[in-house]
Amino acid sequence: MISAQGKKSTTLSEQLSIKLAELVPGGVNSPFRSFEEVGGHTIFLRSAKGSKVFDVDGNSYLDYLGAWGPAILGHCHPAVIEACQKALACGPVFGAPCELELEFAQLLTQAIPSLEQVRFVNSGAEAVMTSIRLARGATGRDKIILFEGCYHGHSDPTLASRKHSVSSGIPHSYAQNGLLVAFNNLEALEKCLQEHRNEIACAIIEPVPGSMGVIAPEPGYLQGVRKLCTTYGVVLIFDEVLSGFRVAFGGAQGIYGVRPDLTCYGKAIAGGMPVGVYGGSKELMSHLMPTGKVYQAGTFSGNPVTMAGGIATIKELMKPVVFASLEVLSSRFFEGIQSQIDRLGVPVRLQRAGSLFAIVFAPRPVKNYSDSLLIDKHAYAKFFHSLLQNGIYMVPSAIDAACISAAHTKEEIDYTIEKIELALRSSFH
Ligand code: PMP
Repeated sequence: MISAQGKKSTTLSEQLSIKLAELVPGGVNSPFRSFEEVGGHTIFLRSAKGSKVFDVDGNSYLDYLGAWGPAILGHCHPAVIEACQKALACGPVFGAPCELELEFAQLLTQAIPSLEQVRFVNSGAEAVMTSIRLARGATGRDKIILFEGCYHGHSDPTLASRKHSVSSGIPHSYAQNGLLVAFNNLEALEKCLQEHRNEIACAIIEPVPGSMGVIAPEPGYLQGVRKLCTTYGVVLIFDEVLSGFRVAFGGAQGIYGVRPDLTCYGKAIAGGMPVGVYGGSKELMSHLMPTGKVYQAGTFSGNPVTMAGGIATIKELMKPVVFASLEVLSSRFFEGIQSQIDRLGVPVRLQRAGSLFAIVFAPRPVKNYSDSLLIDKHAYAKFFHSLLQNGIYMVPSAIDAACISAAHTKEEIDYTIEKIELALRSSFH
């Protein structure tokens, strides 16, 4: 087969990339998956098990993409697969309540103090979109505060703000309702709240942003955000779609001791099944139809297979040994990478929170969106491909979070650290 560039395709992945691009724009069903930033053709995967993914050309890779977050227990965890298969055999969707919804809701509300009630949806973006609608419906206000560099999925309200236009196709009028403030900056938030007093429905924030390097909030920052939102009567929404159960059991709100009004989860909570959840106090959640006036619906919301995957995943994560071993593995991994960075003296930062991490090619630590603009994408691309050649699948983006799973072994981690040294060397040549 001959590609558009006239080059002979060498792998089945490459051939499939070209074919899929004829039928699906860019050859991907989500732009994050394209290798646009790192170069080269995408790799077609056929299966995944534990810490590894397997491509259509017979190669295996140690996986640090973690499906962009969900694979916290590793791929195809036996308990999750068994639970999902059992649910599937009983019927994948009913369009009526099932017992598994009750069980999953009980588990989540017991595990996470800020959740008195939850609603299940099918993706993180849906959870975010509806939380914002709920905050608007409950307060009767239109404006929302967004934090620069935080990502919340592909819904219109979160992509529209005055400062940045992330996507075309969103009415300009939407931008008037999206107020953008810098992350890790309480003064900027307070100024915005003062300027738009009584106009703001909610502030939505990733407590530990994962899409501009993994950024830890400055000490006291999230507590300050909470206080300001309370003072100005603004609903505080934590988007824990990525940080949930990754940064810590339950998410960032547990370790930082901050109780948001609404929280969104997704990704890691259902063992790889498509999921989103949002929840908060009974009072706020009562604004949802059919008890209230805020609309949200979904044919597949709360479907038994996703619920079964979620129950099995949370039950696994509740076993102290699982989180303890994830922490031991993560510490070993990050200490190993950090010592390579220190030894080589390269301008690279390791930014980590729990089992999320970013290997950031920047001259100084990334603490906000402006810092993230200094990231050297070219050096990262070399790093990525060096690892790929050595059978390690890292995230194909210089600023997004990579993940470690409970299925990685010490030996695999040591192998990765060794290859990271090589990759770091090759990035600066
Ligand atoms: N919020 C955050 C913080 C995310 O990282 C993502 C996905 N990367 C989303 C929301 C959207 O989730 P989904 O892709 O499941 O719609």
